[in-house]
Amino acid sequence: MWFSKTQEEVLRELGVDRATGLSSEEAKARLEKYGRNKLKGKPKKSLAALFFDQLKDMLIYVLLGAALITMIIGEYVDAVIILLVVVLNAIIGVVQEYKAEKAIEALQQMTTPKALVRRDGQVKEVNSEEVVPGDIVIIDAGRYIPADLRLIDSANLQIEESALTGESVPSDKDAEAIFDDPKTGIGDRSNMAFMSTLATYGRGEGVVVATAMDTEIGKIAKILDEDNEEMTPLQKRLDELGRILGFIAIGICVLIFVISLFQKRDLFEMFLTAISLAVAAIPEGLAAIVAIVLALGVQRMSKINAIVKKLPAVETLGSVNIICSDKTGTLTQNKMTVVKYYTLNNLKDVPAEGSNFSASQDEAELIKTFVLCSDATYENGQGTGDPTEVALVVLGNRYNLEKNELNSKHQRVAEKPFDSDRKLMSTLNVEGNGYRVHTKGAIDNILKISTHALVNGKRVPLTEEMKANYLKSADEMSDNALRVLGAAYKDTDSMISPEEMEKDLTVIGFVGMIDPPRLEVKDSIRVAKMAGITPVMITGDHKNTAVAIAKELGIADSIDQSITGAEIDQLSDEEFSKKINSLRVFARVSPEHKVKIVRAFKAQGNIVSMTGDGVNDAPSLKYADIGVAMGITGTDVSKGASDMILTDDNFTTIVHAIEEGRNIYNNIKKSVIFLLSCNLGEVITIFASILFFWPVPLMPTQILWINLITDTLPAIALGVDPGDSDIMKKKPRNPKESFFAKGAGLRAIIGGVLIGALTLLAFFFGLREHGYTLGSENIPEEVLIYARTMSFVVLAASQLFYSLTMRNPVKSIFRIGLFSNKYLIGAIVVGIFLQLMVISVPFLAGAFNLHNLSLNDWGIVILLALIPLAANEIIKIFMRKTERD
Ligand code: ADP
Ligand code: MG
Repeated sequence: MWFSKTQEEVLRELGVDRATGLSSEEAKARLEKYGRNKLKGKPKKSLAALFFDQLKDMLIYVLLGAALITMIIGEYVDAVIILLVVVLNAIIGVVQEYKAEKAIEALQQMTTPKALVRRDGQVKEVNSEEVVPGDIVIIDAGRYIPADLRLIDSANLQIEESALTGESVPSDKDAEAIFDDPKTGIGDRSNMAFMSTLATYGRGEGVVVATAMDTEIGKIAKILDEDNEEMTPLQKRLDELGRILGFIAIGICVLIFVISLFQKRDLFEMFLTAISLAVAAIPEGLAAIVAIVLALGVQRMSKINAIVKKLPAVETLGSVNIICSDKTGTLTQNKMTVVKYYTLNNLKDVPAEGSNFSASQDEAELIKTFVLCSDATYENGQGTGDPTEVALVVLGNRYNLEKNELNSKHQRVAEKPFDSDRKLMSTLNVEGNGYRVHTKGAIDNILKISTHALVNGKRVPLTEEMKANYLKSADEMSDNALRVLGAAYKDTDSMISPEEMEKDLTVIGFVGMIDPPRLEVKDSIRVAKMAGITPVMITGDHKNTAVAIAKELGIADSIDQSITGAEIDQLSDEEFSKKINSLRVFARVSPEHKVKIVRAFKAQGNIVSMTGDGVNDAPSLKYADIGVAMGITGTDVSKGASDMILTDDNFTTIVHAIEEGRNIYNNIKKSVIFLLSCNLGEVITIFASILFFWPVPLMPTQILWINLITDTLPAIALGVDPGDSDIMKKKPRNPKESFFAKGAGLRAIIGGVLIGALTLLAFFFGLREHGYTLGSENIPEEVLIYARTMSFVVLAASQLFYSLTMRNPVKSIFRIGLFSNKYLIGAIVVGIFLQLMVISVPFLAGAFNLHNLSLNDWGIVILLALIPLAANEIIKIFMRKTERD
């Protein structure tokens, strides 16, 4: 039992040195031996299984039944065609599902947590799947524990183990504890940390004792079944729509069959026609197309650094009208440099370049406290850790107060970690024969807990006047967009507990550091505003600093648009919510204020995206419509709670993601409207011909064939249409807006009616050429075949052409570029080619009952097929005109 052994025994048994960790070679060898550190998921479906899955569909059963009947009757050709359609449909389904699944898998790969391990004497970040037994793992607040660990170091470490024990209150950990009782429960093993649990506070280190299925969680979850196939609101709505349309289609088919019964038509043929029409009209492709468009869209978004974790987020993104963004690192570069420092009545600039500066006594104390109270490192031009602290360590280097030297002289014996509520951090270090508390943090908070000040090497009582002087200088720095950080200390004879550290301190002074805005953010903010989106800044930093940067970036115009966390606390929820639409900067806020901010914005009917990186940000990320986590600086907790992760932590990426989200939604809409127009066209053709006692212009196999050509490739190609360049000049979409709003539904109907009418017209032309009309009796078979070929071409080609005009509801196809969607052009070319093939290859023409057309008739059918496209373009002209007026 690892928890009964001493740290040394454990380390020895696992063959690892705590200071250097495993060597890379050893880690590699162990990875081979023990396998990747992951819990086994559901076994993947084979291609064959996927294929047969596709066949488990009501429509397919119907088709198979139809094939059987045709076979019994002896219509072998028809049977073969029907079976072919079934197989092709299944293949297309498999390809779509496979692609969608691959896209999702690739995303999951990107979101697997990382682990900090010590290898070859250095701390490295590795994929948590590559952690092996014997690895030394470094734990800090907000990280998932990557494997089962025996702790070898802990500082205020708390771990939330609800995944394992169901207990949601974090348990305190203690690396020094040893439990002799082998029956010690999992929840009581305070010297252990377990895979998939979450460090919520403090720091620690542990050595990996078990990975993958050997871990405690692995033992529980022998097979982890993580099915998060969440349907998006749109998918749900379309699913419903599909079902309704399906019933309507079946109703119409039954009606057609019944009417033709009374008309004494050929029963068998009408039966097949009804079935084929049902297959063509039921929009069973809807769900598949939406799924694949979403999956492909999500894949594309990952390439622009936005990883969408939950599919519904793609849709919601298009409606976002408030982006709440953290300042540090998201709007700014998070590359801090100390440029000024202040000890009482003594403001100095840090020279821009050079080192080996000397500091006065007070200044040296100031820098020493900052350096000792930092976890960051800076070696060979490389900093690790919190950039705020890196800047402090760099400052120390330049003034000959090296971190390593100071640390060996003043060993750290205890600490109270930084948290964004207190905005303070403290350490207890050895000082002479006693100890000294070093505290750094927001200067206002430092002054609140200080009773004395260090002035010219002497501790003097802190007067109100001195406080005012400190604050005045700090405000001046803040007004110049500097991040201000104060320092204080206190001496004690004995060790004290973290609770007693932060009181009765002696303030030393503060520093001001620059954190330049990200260059591209200013443009993105302009784009966002043009798109009807309001960016707001959220920060733990000082109000003046925040407003100065917000002004520079174009987020705010004046300090009246800002509020602090303390001021928020003064307001009732209602008052705050009334005021919120005029606010742009939220300063000195804590994570719980973020929840208030989101709630207030939402109460005003806004769709809110909120960024976050810390452990405490999880609630606000969950509560926001779009929770955005930081990929680089973000904790695992925040990533877990988010809908989207920015791999570059950049504000600009949020705006890009919104743009993509809007495009994806529009593309889905285009595909769906297109599909519905096509299906409607087919239904109208058949239904009208039956209703008016005409011969049916299309054979069942022909209907199936056209459905296959138009329902698949063009619809998907529309789904991956290149984005509209003007998409960010429009207001965000109202999430309640129906899919068929703004004339989209009407347009689907007009398109469908036209397609149907023209197909009938082509049939009529074909008959008339041979001296018959729609009402004629005893039309010879050859004439019917010829006329049917004409309607066959018109029905297919008009749909193919129509897909082009569907690319934009108002812009003309020439404006958006006739050839700018290569996939769509490809789909149309393939469609036409296949169409020509079945008409002109004698064997196929025979099977499908088609006959090649005269040149003249080719001209007629092509002209007819262009009409729906032309009509929609004309409607667009009127739309543009009314839009302008
Ligand atoms: P933001 O990320 O919006 O800048 P933070 O919560 O990181 O806000 O910081 C808020 C305030 O906390 C800062 O203005 C600073 O005064 C203080 N602070 C930030 N980082 C540290 C740290 N590592 N140690 C002590 N205090 C810090
Ligand atoms: Mg921060």
